[in-house]
Amino acid sequence: MAEEQQTGFVGIGNMGAPMVRNLAKANIPVLAYDLNATALESVTTESNLVAAASGLADVGAKCTTVITMLPTGANVRDAVLGENGIASGMKEGGIILDMSSSEPTGTVELARELEASGLHLVDAPVSGGVPGAEKATLALMTGGDDEIVARVEKVLDAMGNIFRTGPVGSGHAAKALNNFLSAASLTATSEALLVAQKFGLDGAKMADIWNASTGRSNATENKLHQHILNRKFAAGFTLKLLNKDVGIARSLAESLDVRADYLDRVSGLLGEALEELGDEADHTALFKHLEKLAGEGRGT
Ligand code: NAD
Repeated sequence: MAEEQQTGFVGIGNMGAPMVRNLAKANIPVLAYDLNATALESVTTESNLVAAASGLADVGAKCTTVITMLPTGANVRDAVLGENGIASGMKEGGIILDMSSSEPTGTVELARELEASGLHLVDAPVSGGVPGAEKATLALMTGGDDEIVARVEKVLDAMGNIFRTGPVGSGHAAKALNNFLSAASLTATSEALLVAQKFGLDGAKMADIWNASTGRSNATENKLHQHILNRKFAAGFTLKLLNKDVGIARSLAESLDVRADYLDRVSGLLGEALEELGDEADHTALFKHLEKLAGEGRGT
């Protein structure tokens, strides 16, 4: 396979690892990179997957498209524009495909700066979690110019289903708002469970009832039995990242001067929970924070 047809993938974490495996399975040769050597080695034993020998500039120089799957938009900006970053080695016409859940105004700014060097940016953040990444059924909220998006379609198809959202940055806005919805249903589900249990209702039975009722959501279907009732709290998505996403949704509402009380409240609760539970906590551990608040009573 010619070098110029290689796809770069930077960020082999909880999501990046299964996503990059699906590219390899679809016969798309990948040059992979992660700051963490162990994370990188976990995927490069597979065929079609090669570890970049000398970092980000190397990935940029050898690939026409480079996917970033990093924690934040600030991390993406550093990886792309920093010293010896991806852009420093990339040939004109190259595409950065940012699949991280980044902040949309930062994405628009990054696209403008890349444009000046003849490079393009497409944002395609994902939803579906680790199971969706493993099954290649992720929802891909894709922002960018039609002609540029068309050039990364094959790569996106190997990881999930494309939903065009509009110009660059629009995918990141759609994603942040999705995660507000997800956090809101996790919060509501947790509180409903805490009240139910205090009343003497059985939690597992309530989960089954809600899953067959109008209170059903991703939180009731995929989190109650699997991570909350059994107190595993290990869905593979950190509270820190969810807090970041809902913070992005909140900033978006603020910048557009949209009053959104519930969004503000959910964002506030996530921030408090993060402070209490720490950076390593899984997002489903939000339940533990709400459980503590519930135990304090209403103070009336
Ligand atoms: P993660 O922390 O598990 O993985 C991030 C990886 O990036 C790590 O392996 C880290 O070593 C690497 N990294 C960080 N900075 C780097 C740099 N400068 N160069 C190279 N590698 C670097 O995170 P994740 O859970 O895989 O999430 C990645 C993105 O996807 C985030 O934006 C997150 O919000 C989003 N997301 C996560 C989930 C989920 O369920 N985990 C679902 C949808 C979207």
